[in-house]
Amino acid sequence: MDNQIHKSGERVEKFCDACGEERGHVVASVTKAGRITRVSCPKCGTRSAFKAGAGTTTRATAKSGAPYDCTHTYRAGQSMTHPVFGVGEVTALIEPQKIDVLFPDRMRRLIHSRARS
Ligand SMILES: [Zn+2]
Repeated sequence: MDNQIHKSGERVEKFCDACGEERGHVVASVTKAGRITRVSCPKCGTRSAFKAGAGTTTRATAKSGAPYDCTHTYRAGQSMTHPVFGVGEVTALIEPQKIDVLFPDRMRRLIHSRARS
C-alpha cells in the first residue's frame, strides 16, 4: 500500500518508545527507493528505525496546511504553511499566544491568537 517516495525532513506518525505515545516524527534517512529507514522524535530526540506496517501509519505529508496566520488560534496537531519555513505542524501550545511548530528543518516557536488591531 505504501508506495510513496519519501524524503528526509518529511513527517510521519510513529509511536515513540521513549515518549510512550504516538507523535509526528521527522524522517531522518531514506533509501534510494524512497523508503523511510530512520526517523527522529522531535520531542525527545530519539532516533529509531522505521518500519511501515503494524502499528504505524504514514500520513500523506504532501498535504499542506492553510497559510500561517498569527491571529488564528491553533491547536496541537494542526498544520500550516509558513511563507518562510514551509509546512509545519503544531506540536504544543506553550502559552496562550505561543505555539511550538515543527517545520521540516526544526522546531520553531510562533505567535498565534494575536488580536487583530
Ligand atoms: Zn519521543
